[in-house]
Amino acid sequence: YPSGADGDPESGGLLPAPVLAVVGRPNVGKSTLVNRLIGRREAVVQDIPGVTRDRIAYDALWNGRRFTLVDTGGWEPDATGLQAAVAAQAEMAIQTADAVLLVVDASVGATATDEAVARVLRRSDRPVLLAATKVDDDRLTSDTAALWRLGLGEPHPVSGLHGRGSGDLLDAVLDALPESPRDLPGTGVGGPRRVALVGKPNVGKSSLLNRVSGEVRSVVHDVAGTTVDPVDSLVDLDGEVWRFVDTAGLRKRVHMASGMEYYASLRTRAAIEAAEVAVVLIDASEPIAEQDQRVIGMAEEAGRALVLVFNKWDLVDEDRRLAMKRELERDLVRVQWAERVNVSALTGRSVAKIAPALRTALASWDRRIPTGRLNGWLAEVIAATPPPVRSGKQPKVLFATQAQTRPPTFVLFTSGFLEAGYRRFLERRLREEFGFTGSPVRISVRVRE
Ligand code: GDP
Ligand code: GDP
Repeated sequence: YPSGADGDPESGGLLPAPVLAVVGRPNVGKSTLVNRLIGRREAVVQDIPGVTRDRIAYDALWNGRRFTLVDTGGWEPDATGLQAAVAAQAEMAIQTADAVLLVVDASVGATATDEAVARVLRRSDRPVLLAATKVDDDRLTSDTAALWRLGLGEPHPVSGLHGRGSGDLLDAVLDALPESPRDLPGTGVGGPRRVALVGKPNVGKSSLLNRVSGEVRSVVHDVAGTTVDPVDSLVDLDGEVWRFVDTAGLRKRVHMASGMEYYASLRTRAAIEAAEVAVVLIDASEPIAEQDQRVIGMAEEAGRALVLVFNKWDLVDEDRRLAMKRELERDLVRVQWAERVNVSALTGRSVAKIAPALRTALASWDRRIPTGRLNGWLAEVIAATPPPVRSGKQPKVLFATQAQTRPPTFVLFTSGFLEAGYRRFLERRLREEFGFTGSPVRISVRVRE
């Protein structure tokens, strides 16, 4: 079967991949290098002034291994505190990534800022790699060697522009990265299920975590064979222990300075990647914001199970309730399949409803429909509503199978192109029949010529 027009289930839905963060001063060539490493020639999405660049994490594949590449190049620290800002960037990278790649411009050599960052990186226990960029030809070889003095091991000479050395660098990256992201004991079999508590600033994430935390740490010993990364929290919800990933920032209540939204978004993405289910917290007392939708989009794109928790319900009056109904219909139709829970972290109202919603979402996420049952259902649907005729031909759906779980991913084998509208129709019917509440569902089409 040659592959069809679109819809490879490839990008999401697999186990979370380990994360490589790329750090360095502005203009050393980070973005150019990232583009090279992910095998794309065009520039990374251009920044719109004042708007955080949307895509900062990329799926990368090398020698059959997948990893996530996080590009910190979009963030321009203000000129006043360049050194401190880049060091902070490195600290963040250490916290969120499995390995860090420091990029230094070989044509300039190591600056004081590069040295400050190297100091931060040397103290971390994450693997660190050093790339010497802009080595377009052999002339810069000795400048590259001079970078040994940063104390980060062998500098890897590369030219992001021409591609020189990028294969060797990728080999070294794969050597440095663990097989799976930290916090993840292998495939996650056994051990508490992993939850990302995410949402825009001030929606009440810390408040909710504090509300549910209670005797968190005391349960650590009861969970056999679990080593808990200090950045995670074990939380007992409804008699079951859950692992809330990457909550260190929430526990510490660090308030991020302005300009740090970029890192908030980076952390959100990293937490979602490390989790199986995302709890997206939304402030019910305010209109649903663009930023709420963006966080939901991240969870959906990453193929994670999803629960929408509307917090601050104590502030919601009748008017607000009506307004929200309209907003839900307008802004969140895309994720109608996600369960909504209305809570108040302040009063504790309905917080107990979160755990059942998590269980439902994860059950959907894990669910596998037997092939026989799937095809029986499909035959009925297609008999009642066949795919629309296209250029005089009636495409036939020959066979369907669920290729993956987490999230459920279906492959349809067809004799012709299936329009997007018809695919959406099938997804709708699939959900009507089988549910999948709380989980994204993917359908890809393979056209048999
Ligand atoms: P970032 O700010 O670190 O992300 O840096 P960019 O990737 O935006 O690159 C900064 C400048 O350096 C751009 O003008 C690039 O064209 C240039 N540059 C990046 N990589 C190379 C390289 O390998 N060789 C040369 N000669 N120039 C490069
Ligand atoms: P975070 O930035 O998402 O971690 O949000 P915080 O937990 O720091 O909460 C932001 C503000 O909202 C704080 O002033 C909280 O006291 C307040 N807050 C959080 N949850 C609730 C709630 O359920 N009801 C009300 N009225 N206020 C809340």
